[in-house]
Amino acid sequence: MKKTFHLLYENYSRKSNRYFNSLSLTYNLNMAVKIFPITEDILGGGKIILEEMLGDDLTPARVARISYLSEGDEEANKKLLVKLLESKHLSPFEQQVFRFKIEDIPMYIGEQLLRHRIASPLKRSYRFTSPEKGKKIEYTAEKLNKIVHIPPEFFGLRESDVKDKDRLLNEIVNHIKKSIELYQELVEKGLRKEAARTILPAGLRTSLYWTVNMRSLMNFLDQRLNPKAQWEIRELAKAVARILYQVVPLTIDNYLRISGLYKYYTE
Ligand SMILES: Cc1cc2nc3c(=O)[nH]c(=O)nc-3n(C[C@H](O)[C@H](O)[C@H](O)COP(=O)(O)OP(=O)(O)OC[C@H]3O[C@@H](n4cnc5c(N)ncnc54)[C@H](O)[C@@H]3O)c2cc1C
Repeated sequence: MKKTFHLLYENYSRKSNRYFNSLSLTYNLNMAVKIFPITEDILGGGKIILEEMLGDDLTPARVARISYLSEGDEEANKKLLVKLLESKHLSPFEQQVFRFKIEDIPMYIGEQLLRHRIASPLKRSYRFTSPEKGKKIEYTAEKLNKIVHIPPEFFGLRESDVKDKDRLLNEIVNHIKKSIELYQELVEKGLRKEAARTILPAGLRTSLYWTVNMRSLMNFLDQRLNPKAQWEIRELAKAVARILYQVVPLTIDNYLRISGLYKYYTE
């Protein structure tokens, strides 16, 4: 009962000859079961899904013991974990690795994410895909926001002094509609998708895989939970932290408190 087990099952489909349905179960002390994938919505649109992870909450403490060839029980490892964080001995946290799928974030937030070089991203290509190909698009602000990000100010998700909001939201919807319709016409008339995308709005939503270790995530949270970061990526950072609270609660809670970021996570 005093142990944390992390089990990973990979079901192999002989028929389709490929791996599918990776299912991980984490049993913790009170035997709560976490079944991957774990999904969190991102305020303003999009979602983040933790599909798989390597290690558990106490992995950094266990691996750090290689330095002294020491051993410790669960209580000792919990104390060591906090000590590692307090002393900024962060390399053991590289052994906790997370594979996120991040869906439908604005293109420019994807670009900001890609600036974090200590990670392995794999992104949807608009050279090969079209927005909402083959689907009937409903040109309402709420529906369009799923394809092209509309600033949260227009949905009352953050305070703002923007005047004349209703008329401007209408203009935004018309602008996006025109861009998508022109894109579709360009492609229909034979222009390459990779060239036709030139006219799509910068807020076009995209998706990516993001495999990243806990040490790099700490650096990401330092920079992107901070109020100096853009609202949209701060909401993504909060969603990352919410997922971490479900799988590595001791690590994330102590990290946020020691680094002084906790107030930004909760605000
Ligand atoms: C509020 C804000 C505003 C920003 N504005 C801009 C902007 O105007 N223009 C812009 O280009 N970027 C901007 N950025 C991006 C920023 O400069 C970083 O590129 C990004 O945040 C990734 O941070 P990082 O390099 O620490 O992370 P990672 O790339 O994940 O690197 C992690 C750590 O590894 C080390 N490292 C990685 N690569 C190198 C290297 N080549 N040499 C030495 N050490 C390395 C560093 O210690 C680094 O902190 C902004 C970021 C924020 C948060």
